[in-house]
Amino acid sequence: MAQETIFSKIIRREIPADILYQDDLVTAFRDVNPQAPTHILIIPNRIIPTVNDVTEEDEPALGRLFTVAAKLAADEGIDENGYRLIVNCNRDGGQEVYHLHMHLLGGRRLGPMLVRRD
Ligand code: 5GP
Repeated sequence: MAQETIFSKIIRREIPADILYQDDLVTAFRDVNPQAPTHILIIPNRIIPTVNDVTEEDEPALGRLFTVAAKLAADEGIDENGYRLIVNCNRDGGQEVYHLHMHLLGGRRLGPMLVRRD
């Protein structure tokens, strides 16, 4: 069994979160520390710790992440101007919560994709 994170509690609505969408496969809610005017996390309901743990079984849920991202981008009015979808993996990817999640970021020009720090 994969280790639960705070995101499991959000899925079960045991702690508060601004949930924008939920179905049998995925849940979407606003990031508590937004990096852009729109910053939404879209996550599979089943715990998949990282992209490294993805299996073929997860394909329906992972496909749904994109369907919901497109819907929420339209709902937020950022679909025409554009947005960025990010999935971080492990330390070098900057992953902090080990429950796979897609970031939907938009509402301003996001700038270059990567900032060099070395
Ligand atoms: P990561 O760095 O793992 O890709 O992103 C984790 C994201 O989860 C961060 O952007 C962080 O702000 C967000 N986050 C962490 N804890 C919570 C929480 O309890 N509620 C919400 N809504 N977002 C959280």
